[in-house]
Amino acid sequence: MSLFEPKESYIRISDISLKYLKETLKIRGLIFDFDGTLMRDHKLSGSTINFIKRAKENGFKISILSNNLVLNHQALEELDIPIIDKFALKPLKKPFLDMAKRMKLEPEKIAVIGNNKLTDIFGANRAKMYSIFIQNLNSFFFRRNVKNRLKQRGIKHID
Ligand SMILES: [Mg+2]
Repeated sequence: MSLFEPKESYIRISDISLKYLKETLKIRGLIFDFDGTLMRDHKLSGSTINFIKRAKENGFKISILSNNLVLNHQALEELDIPIIDKFALKPLKKPFLDMAKRMKLEPEKIAVIGNNKLTDIFGANRAKMYSIFIQNLNSFFFRRNVKNRLKQRGIKHID
């Protein structure tokens, strides 16, 4: 599999199955990209806020790893995510592995969620983390998205 290929792809963060990550994959931590992932079109959606809330309730450790220097302050306050690394130099492995240390988790127990295949997905795969791509175009990956939605409902094998 190419290092640029994510393990899962979705249109929205709220499409990710926390149950599948937790119970099947034994993932314990989530590293989020910020711009274009948590923030879409400079907005933070209610469904994203709700997803983060549910992830916390499910015991996931959560952090933000961004290559940008300035992150929207109001959005950060609303999300209330304690571990943040800005200006992170993704896709180097080091910022991902440093973040794993700060989260006190093995890289294999962490999923990285981002909207950039070069920085987020390539970096996550090289760091041996589980990679989840949030893509901004709706139609192109529609079929894969449908497959993932079916998987969430327990239907695993679709041709
Ligand atoms: Mg991004």
